[in-house]
Amino acid sequence: MSQLNSLLNITKTKKSRLEEVDFDNLQFGKNYADHMMYCDYIDGEWQKPVIAPYGPMSFEPSVKVFHYGQAVFEGMKAFKDDHDDVWLFRPEDNLNRINISSKRMAIPEFPKEYFMESLKTLMQLDKDWVKKGQGNSLYIRPFAIATEPGVSASESNQYRFMIITCPAKAYYSKPVKVLIAQDYSRSADGGVGYAKAAGNYGAQFYPTKLAKEKGLDQIIWTDANTHQYMEEAGTMNIFFRINDKLLTAPTNDRILDGITRRSIIQLAKDEGLDVEIDRVEVKRIIDAAKAGELKEIFGAGTAATIVAVEGFEYDDTYYDLPEMKDSFGMHFKKRLQDIQYNRAEDPHNWRFKI
Ligand SMILES: *Cc1c(COP(=O)(O)O)cnc(C)c1O
Repeated sequence: MSQLNSLLNITKTKKSRLEEVDFDNLQFGKNYADHMMYCDYIDGEWQKPVIAPYGPMSFEPSVKVFHYGQAVFEGMKAFKDDHDDVWLFRPEDNLNRINISSKRMAIPEFPKEYFMESLKTLMQLDKDWVKKGQGNSLYIRPFAIATEPGVSASESNQYRFMIITCPAKAYYSKPVKVLIAQDYSRSADGGVGYAKAAGNYGAQFYPTKLAKEKGLDQIIWTDANTHQYMEEAGTMNIFFRINDKLLTAPTNDRILDGITRRSIIQLAKDEGLDVEIDRVEVKRIIDAAKAGELKEIFGAGTAATIVAVEGFEYDDTYYDLPEMKDSFGMHFKKRLQDIQYNRAEDPHNWRFKI
């Protein structure tokens, strides 16, 4: 393997765990592929990245990530086409974004060369973990954590950047019921909502648990100041369709700049669809629902590509959405997946071949 490159230190696994995995009954996040990458930041520099068998690591209990949550992550996927070629989707956008997230969390940026070489090598080593077929993928989780021991509340001077991967089937494919947030908030002006910072997600679990107790699956987050504008759904960006117009909120420091969102907007514009990128008032959506003009709501993110919303609760009233035959959500899901699985033209060069 050493001929692959000299940028990385590579230790291959002695025995693949592939045989142990029941790919017909995959539970997302339970099985990890044979190899992982880690790279330490010490003395002001990223050291040589290491590819090694996936496995536990040990840290002192005082390392800063455990106490202050100085951590960021990404989510991306690899797809296998019918000719057994493996493809990534806009991987440099994920690198750019983790560096934007890192900057906000005072974590040093990770070099592009290390990121891309590591990804390519991991995908080559673990290509048998990327299964062919619609809905199958290898989920890729890059992340960075503060690893300096010491409980003083200040930025760390040591970090570990890692990439782990796990096989995935279509994530949540069934339509979801959502709660439009009126009490809790996900992010605020000047905060970290635009960053994939670990703490953003931990803080959503409790309000989401309360929503689940009411029989809803997810929360549509609204702006923290007034709760009058729609922002995001769980860990997805959110789109609304009123008649034949597609609406989504503009990104800002409270809203994550999703790659799926960006891709859908581009495809919609390519098709000449009417797309409005502006603040989406809750009242406008409620009024449209009452008038029968609200045709669909869908979430967009790498994990599930697109998730249809079947209904939502607001002010203790539940609104059902109609079942759409010609759904925009399903149309864009298919268009995106056709590009991701190398079944269609890729006019914007989003695919990246391993
Ligand atoms: C990751 C994420 C998204 C979706 O981003 P993609 O790049 O499309 O995967 C949307 N909102 C939040 C809060 C996220 O964390």
